[in-house]
Amino acid sequence: MENQLLNKLNKEQKKAVEIVEGPVMAVAGAGSGKTSVLTNRIAYLIQEAGVSPYNILAITFTNKAANEMKERVQKLIDLPMDNIWISTFHSMGAHFLRREIDSLDYDKNFQIVDDQDTLNIIKNLMKKHNYDLNTYSPTIISKLVGNLKAKLVSINHIDQPIRSMIEQLYPLYNAYLKDNNLVDFEDLLVLTLKILQDFSGILKRYQEKFQYILVDEFQDTNNLQYNIIYQLAKEHRNIFIVGDEDQSIYAFRGSNVGNIKKFAKDFPEHKKIILNQNYRSKDTILKAANSVIKNNKDRIPKDLFSNLGSGDKIIHYKANTDEEEAYYVYEQIRKLRRENTPLSEIVVLYRNNAMSRRFEDIFLKYNLPHKVVGNLSFYKRKEIKDIIAYLHLLINSGDDYSFSRVYNTPKRGVGNVSFANLVEYAEENHLKLFDCIGVNHSPLSGKAALEMTKFRDLITELKQGLETRTLLDTYDLLLDKSGYKEMLEKDDSTKDKTFQSERKLDNLEEFKTIILEKVSDYERDISNYDKLATLLNDLVLHVEAEDNEEHEAVSLMTFHSAKGLEFDIVFMTCLEQSLFPAIRNGFDAANNIDEERRLFYVGLTRARHQVYLTNCKTRFMYGRYMDNLDSQFIDEIDEDYLDKRGSNHVRKSSFERVHSSKNRPTVKYASYDTEEKQIKVSDKVNHKVFGRGMVVEVKGDLVKIAFSVPHGVKTLMKDHPSFKVE
Ligand code: ATP
Ligand code: MG
Repeated sequence: MENQLLNKLNKEQKKAVEIVEGPVMAVAGAGSGKTSVLTNRIAYLIQEAGVSPYNILAITFTNKAANEMKERVQKLIDLPMDNIWISTFHSMGAHFLRREIDSLDYDKNFQIVDDQDTLNIIKNLMKKHNYDLNTYSPTIISKLVGNLKAKLVSINHIDQPIRSMIEQLYPLYNAYLKDNNLVDFEDLLVLTLKILQDFSGILKRYQEKFQYILVDEFQDTNNLQYNIIYQLAKEHRNIFIVGDEDQSIYAFRGSNVGNIKKFAKDFPEHKKIILNQNYRSKDTILKAANSVIKNNKDRIPKDLFSNLGSGDKIIHYKANTDEEEAYYVYEQIRKLRRENTPLSEIVVLYRNNAMSRRFEDIFLKYNLPHKVVGNLSFYKRKEIKDIIAYLHLLINSGDDYSFSRVYNTPKRGVGNVSFANLVEYAEENHLKLFDCIGVNHSPLSGKAALEMTKFRDLITELKQGLETRTLLDTYDLLLDKSGYKEMLEKDDSTKDKTFQSERKLDNLEEFKTIILEKVSDYERDISNYDKLATLLNDLVLHVEAEDNEEHEAVSLMTFHSAKGLEFDIVFMTCLEQSLFPAIRNGFDAANNIDEERRLFYVGLTRARHQVYLTNCKTRFMYGRYMDNLDSQFIDEIDEDYLDKRGSNHVRKSSFERVHSSKNRPTVKYASYDTEEKQIKVSDKVNHKVFGRGMVVEVKGDLVKIAFSVPHGVKTLMKDHPSFKVE
């Protein structure tokens, strides 16, 4: 009798499940059932081959994928999943080290440190060994140390004098971690591999334990991960890997698609499974995806086909503005909902987290249930909450909640004990926290007292400055003078951290758009103080509305987080050259474009029924207007599969009919260009608020402009659209 587990699979997929012994690889296209096969194989091993769950190790890319896989296996066979290791590489490393790290003379109760801790340790070591922290950036040093450990760079590639310094500090850093029983993120993989390589007894035990190893998304493994798997699998050789070279999207974090070739060489007896049928997407979507990915260099073409019917063409909607783009997406979703598409089957994808905001806003406005996946929604992100707390202090310095949130962010040397003293002092004297800092009888002393005085003066100055400064200028000054921006700019201790900090800086830039837009809805002649108070009130309402998240909701996520997932309807948004493909610093351009193209391919191949590509002519982002061209990837899609719509293609959108320019900032800026303004000293300018003035200094991105009384000299962002050169 045909096995129940297998009757849904095609011949090749069955083969992949049934070859229980020996190495097997299925390097196959998107939606061809790789993950399904992997999941079925786990169930088959247990149920049909009688393998104990204890002997299985399955590696997935994210914790979410691991949980889903557990659920899927559990559905196939009714067994508790406690005994199977289904996890990511890092959580597998953490599990392994909890059991085995004593072999390296660590205590099993080690602590995992984060990048900030690493930075502090490096700083202290540098001080101790008399390195000048101003000459050598501790953040760069700690970043290099991390990369060295993860083998992303070799010491030979680091130039002098940093090299000798790292040669000295690197062993000291590791010794410090060890002496204090600490393990960093890289160690989770590095120490795991070290134990497996140095302790044959332990290796043997784990080779015996993990007799069956399965790895999903193999194209995105890095060298350390590959070696861990190789050590574990080389004895029993029951290793099953699935992946797709066309979906390799983490090279910027050290993943190495060459590991697929390495696998083939290290396991020459492997069986290769070819999966050509895509069970996910309509044929048009698949063909469109192929027409894009075929532009990549050094790629093996695939014969992926789908039997799900040709389906509708891919819709490209080009809006005039980003707001209109978001409205279009909303309108289409509303239509789809009326036609009974469940909201959970709809995803809105974007290249960077900061791009979610526009969609969140419009969905909130029209009460469309939605959830931001893989990341916090815009208003819940730490940096946004922090900056809102700062702004609250400008309105009400007695807001102890906001004070507690930011008094030591960035660090101002106020430790827990000092803060506890401060709180006690405030309570005893019936004062607000803000009123207890910097005064003569402050309970703080030393550096903390000094720093808090500066903090108080800054808040007071900015609050008073509201009488003359615009909210935007106030905001910029706040970011600068509070040290918040600098904290993020300097936080480049590891590749990952740099990445996160850049995203945070993007979000803080994007907050300017919110200020400009919301404030433009308010009455003009209210004071800046009142505008700020109203703005903060509005934001509170926003955040509360978001807390009522429903289960049945549209998903919003980045292209990266969509890997491995599928939806009936996919909206790929903000598709403009320079936003996607995004230009990433320090990466060679050609390889970068190929990686971006794979990411675009990942996006297209998430869809079952319909893909919408959207972009706009003029985008208001990071507080300024940009005129971008269409993403080159749209042009790469074969015209036969595209249906072009939107006011910029054919006709006026309903957005334009329904909404006039009401929701745009009422101020019409002179320049919509992203191009840098050509400004030099003595140029005359016209500012929307301060009127006419003359440039007296140009310094980097800033200009000093002298306006007539009562405005006086202002420092402004050079490219800010609030003024133009006459
Ligand atoms: P990706 O490359 O995006 O990770 P994948 O190769 O892992 O894709 P799956 O997610 O396993 O593909 O499968 C894609 C879809 O096809 C799923 O909905 C799955 O249930 C379905 N599917 C897989 N194999 C079959 C089959 N033989 N018959 C019907 N549906 C199938
Ligand atoms: Mg998959």
